Amino acid sequence: TEEVLHRQDKLAAVGQLAAGVAHEIRNPLTSMKGYAEFLQLDEKDPERIEFLNIILDEIERVNTIVEDFMVLAKPKMVELEEKNLIPVIKNVVSLLEFEARKKNVRLQFDCSDEIIQIECDENRLKQVFLNFIKNGIEAMPNGGDLHVKTMIYENNVQISIQDSGVGIPKEKLNKLGEPFFTTKKHGNGLGLMMSFKIIENHHGKVFVESELNKGTTFNILLPAKTA
Ligand code: ADP
Ligand code: MG
Repeated sequence: TEEVLHRQDKLAAVGQLAAGVAHEIRNPLTSMKGYAEFLQLDEKDPERIEFLNIILDEIERVNTIVEDFMVLAKPKMVELEEKNLIPVIKNVVSLLEFEARKKNVRLQFDCSDEIIQIECDENRLKQVFLNFIKNGIEAMPNGGDLHVKTMIYENNVQISIQDSGVGIPKEKLNKLGEPFFTTKKHGNGLGLMMSFKIIENHHGKVFVESELNKGTTFNILLPAKTA
């Protein structure tokens, strides 16, 4: 018989892994950082300083990964508060406007409503939108359109992130959200896993539609407070 892991089980297994990995990586990171900072202060050779800066940057990068993994290990780190979703999205869109323009991507946020109250962890949710919009931009190496839209459906808000990029082959759709699944040279394959977990912690759902060389739409459904 063949057993396919339900996404939920997959995430639970990853959570245990994450707790272990985070613990093992934290301590050596801390001491490396301390020594590198000490050398940076003391060293006068410009090239060595450059290398030390690289080390520090890399350490910071690993640190970010560990912090991301912590969300899996400790779901309670997500603290929900009632917030207006619209400025949260607007903030992320404006953060990425410059990067989009550089890559010939027209980034647009169409919001019909001005206030959509939801229970959320604002910073975690920003991370989610950042991941999806960045992925969209990265899927359009020759530029294109990226539309972010919100729509109210009964007690839910749907946030769509639509790109006109390369698309995702059908046989790869079930890989989305698996840790370390990436098709990018400099990708880490953690963005979607983190995003799915955060959305799950918000009692939400994610749907994907994709057509090769036409584009991809991710629809995120989150419970909304209806007046
Ligand atoms: P990373 O961006 O580091 O590769 P992610 O978890 O964010 O990791 O995404 C995993 C993979 O899913 C990507 O490498 C890519 O193959 C695919 N993917 C995600 N979003 C899109 C998109 N909008 N268009 C095409 N492929 C996508
Ligand atoms: Mg990504």
